[in-house]
Amino acid sequence: MVLVDRTNHHLFQPLLYQVATAGLSGSDIAQPVRTILRGQRNLHVHMAQVEEIDLAGRSVVFDFQRYRLEYDYLVIALGVRTNYFGNDQWAKHALGLKSLADAYAIRERLLAAFERAENLPDNHAERTRQLTTVVIGGGPTGVEMAGACVELGRRVLKPEFKSANLSETRVVLIDAGQRLLSTFDPELSERAKRDLERMGVQVKLGVRVEEIGEGYVVAGGERYEAATIVWGAGVSPPPLVKTLGSQGVALDKSGRIEVGTDCAVAGQRGVFAAGDIASCTDGAGVRVPGLCQGAIQMGDHIGRVIMADVAGKRDAVKPIKYRDKGTMATIGRSSAVADVGGWKTGGFVAWVLWLLVHLIFLIDLRSKMTVMLKWIAAYVFYKPTGRLLDAPKA
Ligand SMILES: Cc1cc2nc3c(=O)[nH]c(=O)nc-3n(C[C@H](O)[C@H](O)[C@H](O)COP(=O)(O)OP(=O)(O)OC[C@H]3O[C@@H](n4cnc5c(N)ncnc54)[C@H](O)[C@@H]3O)c2cc1C
Repeated sequence: MVLVDRTNHHLFQPLLYQVATAGLSGSDIAQPVRTILRGQRNLHVHMAQVEEIDLAGRSVVFDFQRYRLEYDYLVIALGVRTNYFGNDQWAKHALGLKSLADAYAIRERLLAAFERAENLPDNHAERTRQLTTVVIGGGPTGVEMAGACVELGRRVLKPEFKSANLSETRVVLIDAGQRLLSTFDPELSERAKRDLERMGVQVKLGVRVEEIGEGYVVAGGERYEAATIVWGAGVSPPPLVKTLGSQGVALDKSGRIEVGTDCAVAGQRGVFAAGDIASCTDGAGVRVPGLCQGAIQMGDHIGRVIMADVAGKRDAVKPIKYRDKGTMATIGRSSAVADVGGWKTGGFVAWVLWLLVHLIFLIDLRSKMTVMLKWIAAYVFYKPTGRLLDAPKA
């Protein structure tokens, strides 16, 4: 068995925003895959970028074309990447949040902006720009980022800055749709908006971004001067998946790989796709969502199908059945929204539920313990841990 990943770690993406806002460190939410799979004797791990999937040749090519590996079974689980909807030039100004590197880049920009604001006691306009963050996209990533950014400035860092008044920290959350958290129940969307506004976030709905440049965003005809711009508005499959389309694999209209109820790619013996990159409708006609639970359940199912196939009993495996374990998003300290098994709740109860669920799903005991202790310390002392900045590059 061979696992190829361009990074050397498993990343728990739901807590990335806390790394981006200095609440946690990267190593709290990511673990080396070699460590996680240490006990798996028959597994080889390669840290390398897969450059080609050759379905006719039943092989994948990686490590700068140096390594061609033939397969009997292939599971494609490449995930998705930040999508700027044809405006890739925005990427250097509006930072996406998909990887640890993305989270570190946002954190550096955010913390450096607070520091610069402190050095500008006499320049009101520039100080205001440094204290402004624009978050684009009102899904869970945007909502969580907006809440965490405003709290970081107005509550956590405020007592430590003397000439910049961090209660002037401004966060603008922009979405083209008519409500936040569009996949949630409308009541929870409304609740999230109310709670964010109460915390000081300016929520702009039904507003389209027209232009992004160095330190500014133009949206709905209005110009926002902002030192930090975060993009959480969309994702799309990586280019490698497009090459599968030209090899006869069916892709849906967003470019994801179509799979059957066995998570297999039609017409390609032994080839499966799982997670965000797969477009799957389960045996009961339910779309498997691009969420952690979707990825985990598809991965488990593929494991069962392959084992059965090897034993010559593939027909004995029932179609995948997605078990919806609920959705939740945190808004800030003591505030979240959750929809679990039809039970819709918000505020403190949802927040405690959110904390527990995220602790449970962290990959190992060390991460669970570290994150729990850091959360308790942050709640009691208001002191985030991941705040170190190096000297800016000359
Ligand atoms: C900021 C954020 C917050 C989220 N919050 C939630 C949440 O609260 N709840 C929830 O359920 N879901 C959440 N999600 C979604 C969830 O993280 C994904 O659904 C899940 O990670 C999908 O798993 P995956 O294995 O398909 O993809 P990923 O976890 O993205 O893994 C893909 C892997 O493929 C590797 N890879 C990609 N291309 C190559 C290549 N060419 N060669 C080698 N390796 C490659 C990557 O390095 C990565 O390790 C969130 C996602 C983000 C980004």
